[in-house]
Amino acid sequence: MSDKKKVDKCAFCGRTSDQVEMLLQGGGSSICVDCALRVSEYVHSIFGDELFDEYRGTESGKSASCETLNVTPKQITAFLDQYVIGQDDAKKSLAVAVYNHYKRIGEAFSRRKAEAGKKKSGAQKVLDAEKSALEIEKSNILLVGPTGTGKTLLARTIARMLNVPFAIVDATVLTEAGYVGEDVESILSRLLQAADYDVDRAERGIVFIDEIDKIARKSDNPSITRDVSGEGVQQAMLKLLEGSIVNVPPAGGRKHPEQKMIPVNTTNILFICGGAFEGIEKRIAQRLNTRVVGYGAQEKKSHIDMDNLLRYIAPQDLRSYGLIPEIVGRLPIVTYLNPLDRDALRRILTEPKNALVRQYVHLFELDGVKLTIEDSVLDLIVDTALKYKLGARGLRSICEAVMMDSMYDLPGSGRKTFKVTLEYAKERIDRFAGTLS
Ligand code: ADP
Repeated sequence: MSDKKKVDKCAFCGRTSDQVEMLLQGGGSSICVDCALRVSEYVHSIFGDELFDEYRGTESGKSASCETLNVTPKQITAFLDQYVIGQDDAKKSLAVAVYNHYKRIGEAFSRRKAEAGKKKSGAQKVLDAEKSALEIEKSNILLVGPTGTGKTLLARTIARMLNVPFAIVDATVLTEAGYVGEDVESILSRLLQAADYDVDRAERGIVFIDEIDKIARKSDNPSITRDVSGEGVQQAMLKLLEGSIVNVPPAGGRKHPEQKMIPVNTTNILFICGGAFEGIEKRIAQRLNTRVVGYGAQEKKSHIDMDNLLRYIAPQDLRSYGLIPEIVGRLPIVTYLNPLDRDALRRILTEPKNALVRQYVHLFELDGVKLTIEDSVLDLIVDTALKYKLGARGLRSICEAVMMDSMYDLPGSGRKTFKVTLEYAKERIDRFAGTLS
């Protein structure tokens, strides 16, 4: 046995070749069989269901987009169900929109393939022209719902399922060209980066534009000062959403004349926009000719779910909120997300494939510790999130507060089990809550 083999060690656990059964080598480093098994179990715990295997299996695991998408909307929602709790209406609209989007790309792709090299008669050309008049329109999507209810998570999960490049952009950083801020083209720079500058892949990717409500027109009256972060951005965004060739600065930010641009065709890029649209319920209520509180229109009110007016959201509400009609027209699918109640928050802790509790259990498992958490602890975590209005995002920080000490103390302690009791958690949550008030 050479010395070299003896010093060779697993890049994960650090054990040397004589401490493990076998070391697998590749890419300039090694992994022991135990760690390889753990990694494969971990990957399986996240992706390994039949459904996901099916998507990955399409065309040698390449992007499932366009010509290779072979899932139904129901399968898409089934996949989303594994990661996102509730939000059934949003899932359904999203699944149908994504399905149609990639079907549309697939059709265009096969048409191009069939036309390539084909000599056409005059009659065939007429037929083709008629067919292209039937082209399915692009279906960008708008998700309306309170912050922290799963809008980004839905978009991210769809991109993950399809294995296409995905970029998240915050609309609030965008301004009209020439002003302080970022040009709208920087949205596509992020997508290019996510696709490792593979333009072909980027052109079939998904972009999530968050806080689209923040670029609503500031007022109905044309003001003296230009609305450079509102209507100006909406105008600039139109060409991206509708599908055109856009010159993109590779590094994002602000364009400048000497920069080399990358032309990107946005026709097949799916744009999913999200926004809280705070206060839009009032506009919906007005349109429904009823009132959020008060009296009147009793018969109408009786079949209107007053607690969830968002479900009635329609394009005209978005226009009255300050989105220009052209933008509204380019976001034909509008759907809503519900606020997360106690039950949803509780489920978020344990049910999604990468739920927080599962992550901690796994982290401890990697140290050979079996972690258990009392149910009452999970209830307390949810109660705390509700009490301090921290939402689903807050669950993470509360869990961290509970687990931090044990994550620090247990490694190397030789302990094989650890149980988080209510008493243990309460002490730490109280300390955490003290930092909030
Ligand atoms: P939004 O985009 O609506 O502001 P996010 O999708 O970014 O909210 O949600 C923030 C975090 O909260 C997510 O990363 C996820 O951990 C959790 N979360 C929110 N909503 C859900 C949900 N419906 N199901 C599972 N987890 C959720």
